[in-house]
Amino acid sequence: MSVVAPPTNKVTNFINGQWAPAQSSEWRDIVNPATGEILASVPLAGAADVNAAVEAAAAAFPEWRRTPPEDRIQPLFKLKMLLEEHIDDIARIITLENGKTFAEAKGEMRRAIENVEVACGIPMMMQGYNLEDVARGIDEIMIRQPLGVVAAIVPFNFPGMIAFWYLPYAIATGNTFILKPSERVPLTMHYIYELLEKTGLPKGVVSLVNGGKAAVDALIDHPKVRAISFVGSTPVARYIYSRSAEQGKRCQCQGGAKNHVVVLPDADIPMATQIISDSAFGCAGQRCLAVSVAVTIGEAQRTFRDSIAEAASNLRVGNGLEAGVQMGPVITPQSKERVEQLIGVGEKQGAKVLLDGRNTKVPKHETGNFVKPTILDDVPASSEITDTEIFGPVLSLVHADNMDEALAFLERSAYGNQASLFTSSGAAARQFRYQAPAGNIGINIGVAAPMAYFPFSGWKNSFFGDLHGQGRDAIEFYTDKKVVVERWAKEHSRKF
Ligand code: NAD
Repeated sequence: MSVVAPPTNKVTNFINGQWAPAQSSEWRDIVNPATGEILASVPLAGAADVNAAVEAAAAAFPEWRRTPPEDRIQPLFKLKMLLEEHIDDIARIITLENGKTFAEAKGEMRRAIENVEVACGIPMMMQGYNLEDVARGIDEIMIRQPLGVVAAIVPFNFPGMIAFWYLPYAIATGNTFILKPSERVPLTMHYIYELLEKTGLPKGVVSLVNGGKAAVDALIDHPKVRAISFVGSTPVARYIYSRSAEQGKRCQCQGGAKNHVVVLPDADIPMATQIISDSAFGCAGQRCLAVSVAVTIGEAQRTFRDSIAEAASNLRVGNGLEAGVQMGPVITPQSKERVEQLIGVGEKQGAKVLLDGRNTKVPKHETGNFVKPTILDDVPASSEITDTEIFGPVLSLVHADNMDEALAFLERSAYGNQASLFTSSGAAARQFRYQAPAGNIGINIGVAAPMAYFPFSGWKNSFFGDLHGQGRDAIEFYTDKKVVVERWAKEHSRKF
């Protein structure tokens, strides 16, 4: 098996149980963001490749659907063992193509494995319900049936984890599944599909199509694809949601984010500092649950500002494969440029640059896309920098006089992926949980990522749809409900 890139350095698709070169002639380089080195190249597949994957998935569906749930989960048990066995290789590939540190990459794979484990409970989770005698002699039963061919489109920032919000649940419930990874980081899923190949899944049950917009459009438009799951930026999420709706398709789209943390003066400031620093600067701020704006109240304005500035300035930035490195690069040179330009916008609009990560050069990696942790203080509550998703290691500090003012500020945000509070007051925590306008809430938690048995929520422009990924929502999303009402004329008395 390839530990970095496929043997030819060209990524292939996995269709009908076979590794197949793409029919496309368009290619794109996969670049290590820490070094600028070209790792391999990826095809930008179009409708022909998508059509081949959908036809194979559609052909595999009837037999896979008939396979008992208990048998459908056996390949998932194998997959869990394979992922555990190869976790270091996978994490290394994630670091090479995405830039996050090796420890962060391993952490992401733990969350992926957790979803495989939860989906192994499908024989219980997929059950419907029933009631006898809804009228005299009449019984009613609700059963769940798989949809058919389903597809997921995922972003660059978690090359290993996000596909697992969907794949294990989709196939365990009896669907056949097509993944379109991010064209910036396709090597991780290429490797994981090499593991999937060893699990004994029948051909066509899982497929992999590499590409960009053309592949996505072809998946949405294909009449045999029943449902689309998407994770990525808000404009693309909105586009995919509308296009899927036009086709009458079931769709769930997670979008971008701008996450707030409120720090009360009664918080444990050293603990809050450590946790918020990890949330804002971990994965170079490229997490959809990264804290991006800290709203300090009262004395916390001074205490938290001083301690977060010190913690952030001590973070070691560099190549995520090197020991001791705590933060890697951002994904592309364009992303670095955009983040640095937004820091400049913040400065122009009145923020004080407390810690400036622009123009970072890491020795021996001068061509890497590094931006060091940046802290903007006294950011005006209403400004471009408080409204825009930066997706880089930049934390803005905003001050509020009390909790009501802080909550009103959060309410104005267009996004609602996560909101956190740091406090030692139960009453404040309850008020925050009750009122904060976001789908994932952290109380003294910096990255409130739901475990696999809870839905990965998200509100406002951070989510389009109703059923989320993971947990019970995943079962609802990947099944159609069928209700049977039965009457049999007389009690059975015939003798055979
Ligand atoms: P992106 O929207 O650029 O790309 C995501 C996927 O969509 C990729 O597979 C890409 O090939 C495809 N795509 C891109 N442009 C398209 C288009 N015009 N038409 C059809 N498909 C298109 O996102 P990204 O830069 O890879 O990821 C970062 C974004 O994802 C951030 O905004 C982040 O907040 C968000 N994100 C959200 C969550 C969440 O749970 N809400 C999780 C992770 C990332």
